[in-house]
Amino acid sequence: MSLSQDEILRYSRHLIMPEVGVEGQEKLKAAKVLLIGSGGLGSPAALYLAAAGIGTIGLVDFDRVDFSNLQRQIIHSTKSVGRPKVESAKERLAEINPNVKVVTYDEMLTKDNIMRILKDYDILLDGTDNFQTRYLVNDACVFTKKPFVYGSIFRFDGQATVFYPGRGPCYRCLFAEPPPPGMVPSCAEGGVLGILPGVIGVIQATEVVKLIIGKGEPLIGRLMLYDALKMTLREVKFRRNPKCPVCGDNPSIKELIDYDAFCGLARGQEEKSNGAKMIPEISAKELKAMMDKKEKFILVDVREPNEFQINRIPGAKLIPLGNIPERVHELDSADNIVVNCHFGGRSAKAVEFLQKMGFKKVKNLAGGIDAWSQDVDPSCPRY
Ligand code: ZN
Repeated sequence: MSLSQDEILRYSRHLIMPEVGVEGQEKLKAAKVLLIGSGGLGSPAALYLAAAGIGTIGLVDFDRVDFSNLQRQIIHSTKSVGRPKVESAKERLAEINPNVKVVTYDEMLTKDNIMRILKDYDILLDGTDNFQTRYLVNDACVFTKKPFVYGSIFRFDGQATVFYPGRGPCYRCLFAEPPPPGMVPSCAEGGVLGILPGVIGVIQATEVVKLIIGKGEPLIGRLMLYDALKMTLREVKFRRNPKCPVCGDNPSIKELIDYDAFCGLARGQEEKSNGAKMIPEISAKELKAMMDKKEKFILVDVREPNEFQINRIPGAKLIPLGNIPERVHELDSADNIVVNCHFGGRSAKAVEFLQKMGFKKVKNLAGGIDAWSQDVDPSCPRY
């Protein structure tokens, strides 16, 4: 794929580098890279990959741009709030480099569509924030022998590595089992420094470019650990596991599986209402009605103190989830108790714990304080 005069000028700082040159730039132009997620990691990666002259960039994301994304998802702008992320991202990329062909997939990546989408690309860049998609992407890449560049972020910590089937270990060699659902907080629950995905997404984009031009030492079998608070970058080496169920010597997984089930995620209401997992719930509107009727009950907020500073439901008593066991004596099992958190996940765990401790009159606020803001009190800020 030869370069036009415009492209020669545009990429001149690449062309004069011996590691890239005309040959490398032509490889970039011929390359097809699929970015999974147009969020925190996908934003900086897409911006730099488009600027660098990747010929075809695929964007997969089913989400819409939300105000709470703008703190870190720098490909989107305030005026794009509410629009599909892939559309907003595509527009921005066209502004940066009209030579890039951007293909959008406004859908959730699943085992039913991944092979159809994947087949047109050479390299994947994983910018997802959930385990089921990571295992799905990993297995699909192992089956099709395509490399995927992994990144993950939480608060001040980030990681990145390259999984290259046939040349090194896979995601399952590194993380054989997903963590139990709810054990690892997401960025939506625990927060993330807005700049952090910029650092990790750019490391991922760098690895993509290196793989395409075939220069340097790719991050295969090396996990980079970045700590923004200490400002350190560490490297942990890891190997292919001969017993890996997907890339090992005798693989037991030979086709895509049900990744929601694998990651222990309940699907639909019928599983949610199964046996011991039954958590009594109350809606935000029902809670408001109880308050209006001056019913006697205790409202326990199990979020963290810094979240409690952002917003709170009037009368709530703060006991962070992690402190419930040691402070359970502050609650009386004779009282009616309602527990709330941000979205209802942590409070469901608190209700489960209290039930085990013998509390019978305890309910979870469905949807958490976010539902309260939406359904009862719009003056209560959302975050
Ligand atoms: Zn493996």
